[in-house]
Amino acid sequence: NINRGDVGGTTIFSVMSGLAVQHNALNLSQGFPDFDGPAPLLERVQYYLTHGFNQYPPMTGVDSLRYAVRDKVADLYGAQVDGDTEVTISAGATEALFCAIAAVVRAGDEVIVFDPAYDSYAPVVALQGGKTIHIPLSAPDFKIDWNQVAAKLSDRTRLIIVNTPHNPTGAVCGEADIAALRTLAEHHDFYILADEVYEHIVFDGQAHLSMCRYPDLYERSFVVSSFGKTYHVTGWKVGYCVAPPDLSAEFRRIHQFVNFTVNTPVQLGLADFLHAHPEHHLQLPDFYQRKRDYFLTQLQGSKFTWQASAGTYFQLIDYGALSAELDVDLAKSWTEQLKLASIPISVFYQDQNCAPKSLLRFCFAKDTETCWHDCAANLTVF
Ligand code: PMP
Ligand code: GLN
Repeated sequence: NINRGDVGGTTIFSVMSGLAVQHNALNLSQGFPDFDGPAPLLERVQYYLTHGFNQYPPMTGVDSLRYAVRDKVADLYGAQVDGDTEVTISAGATEALFCAIAAVVRAGDEVIVFDPAYDSYAPVVALQGGKTIHIPLSAPDFKIDWNQVAAKLSDRTRLIIVNTPHNPTGAVCGEADIAALRTLAEHHDFYILADEVYEHIVFDGQAHLSMCRYPDLYERSFVVSSFGKTYHVTGWKVGYCVAPPDLSAEFRRIHQFVNFTVNTPVQLGLADFLHAHPEHHLQLPDFYQRKRDYFLTQLQGSKFTWQASAGTYFQLIDYGALSAELDVDLAKSWTEQLKLASIPISVFYQDQNCAPKSLLRFCFAKDTETCWHDCAANLTVF
């Protein structure tokens, strides 16, 4: 009973992680590191936890963290946003995605999403009474066909959800994508929800093209990110939304009744760490590119095929030369028999006729020494 983008069924991430535990498999399915966050960050959080910083913070997040996000956005993307009126701390990116969608989508509104689409978007749109318009992307490079987007725009189009770097494919938007989006925005009145949770994990010298860089796009955007990805602490569930004051006000109208706010000691610890260690996020591309390359080196000589991931900590592998089994079935049988869990890609497509049938996603946010030894051992069956 896997969720396929409607309201109901169980998210693939719970299904595969549950199976991995049940069968004692190496879990490269759900995306999370097998190493801890940086020690100075853990120390700062520990400090606040044990020094009386355990009551409600402001609804929008603590000042120091909002200002740290403001400064980062200025440094990296050249955007001057107001830390008081344009930055809101959320309970993970997931809550921010919910609040942004709930802030603007009303019954009958249309929301454009690109398949394979991260699985929390469509159910939230449906809960609002909105309708997702799915534009399928094709392997191996999953480039957006902007002519198709133009053709799908209508009077009811309220929102376009752009996820770059893209989960699950690892594709990233380039200058041509931004140019095409800007052209559409000149003539159509939609909002943009930019899911940029992997903003700091972009490879091969490419730049992350945040919506914050482009004033004409930013003025209609909710830009969402996650500290969980950046600081190797997915279990903390702290993220944020940067949006112009009018959109942030609408966002906060929802956020105040969904979560109200996010735990104090983690916010304060993150703020200190962001100020003291900007090198952490600047080194992430290198850090994860080495892990990607190591993983791909392990697969050299196998019958798998792939296109190297351009961003995120996920790599797609095509097993089509080895098996005709459907990805959902193969992901399950590999978990049970090979003790190796991954994520099937077809579940992220609304139209199964458009879905690639032999792609699995592997998370390479793992400690190479301990993890890849096991992984390679499992995969040498091929
Ligand atoms: N969007 C995408 C594309 C993701 O991969 C994730 C990570 N699970 C999220 C949103 C949610 O992030 P968080 O864990 O901070 O809620
Ligand atoms: N974003 C993570 C992934 O893609 C999982 C998030 C979740 O478990 N909901 O694997």
